[in-house]
Amino acid sequence: MSPLAVVSGGTRGIGLTLSRRLVKLGYRVVAPYRSDAQAAASAAAELGESFHPLQLDVADADAVRAAAGTVLTRHGTPTVLVNNAGINIDRPFLELSALDWRRVLDTNLSGAFFLSQAFAPAMLAADRDATIVNIGATTGIRPRRNGANYCASKAGLLHLTKCLAVELAPRIRVNCLIPGMTETDELVTRFRLDDPAARAAVVAEIPRGRIGTTEEIADALEFLIGPASGYLTGQKLIVDGGQFMW
Ligand code: NDP
Repeated sequence: MSPLAVVSGGTRGIGLTLSRRLVKLGYRVVAPYRSDAQAAASAAAELGESFHPLQLDVADADAVRAAAGTVLTRHGTPTVLVNNAGINIDRPFLELSALDWRRVLDTNLSGAFFLSQAFAPAMLAADRDATIVNIGATTGIRPRRNGANYCASKAGLLHLTKCLAVELAPRIRVNCLIPGMTETDELVTRFRLDDPAARAAVVAEIPRGRIGTTEEIADALEFLIGPASGYLTGQKLIVDGGQFMW
């Protein structure tokens, strides 16, 4: 049977391109999504029988545990888990409510913890090595204004990556793939990139002279789950056109 990948948020944006790439590489893909059933249906129509969207709030620990049990029974053990689901609720720090804080941390950080913990026992017991890739953000390293919740969640995700890389070794490699500015509907809306002046201002900060594509993030994922990165774990791979050179 073909290998299985679980890609949270694999129905839209970066996650959809990651799902497409994994299907192209011969994986079956289970893609938890939160609420956009239309996007999930359209991804399923495009990707066919190898793709299984799954309505699941990754921030809900009990729901994740139950869904993981169903996935393991119905589809088998994943060899790849991509913790990609993420949200922003941006506000100045002094205006951030407890709910704004919790929703972002619960999705971006706890969601990755819940999914990893739900699948790791089966992945560790399987007869082949597995990989977890957490989708971080440059703001998890370099803070930006009005995103204390998002920045903290992505900083936590980077450190969770390292902790899991230690505890799940040697059978599961765990790395953090950090996209820079990457062309998705969400990014276009958030940075008003439909406005040529706003786009030019963003691009001026990027040495490569353009915003990245979701395909370029899929290229990095392909490297991180493949044999060419077999000795790489607990690391961050930053794909940002040179915007930040850490
Ligand atoms: P999108 O908003 O386009 O897609 C987010 C996906 O995550 C959707 O499929 C969404 O499902 C799903 N999702 C959100 N919350 C939950 C939840 N609680 N449970 C299950 N699924 C959920 O985001 P992007 O593609 O732009 O971003 C993907 C990842 O990349 C995020 O982690 C983001 O932080 C990170 N990133 C993106 C950058 C960019 O430039 N685009 C830059 C740096 C990092 P639904 O559609 O149902 O809501």
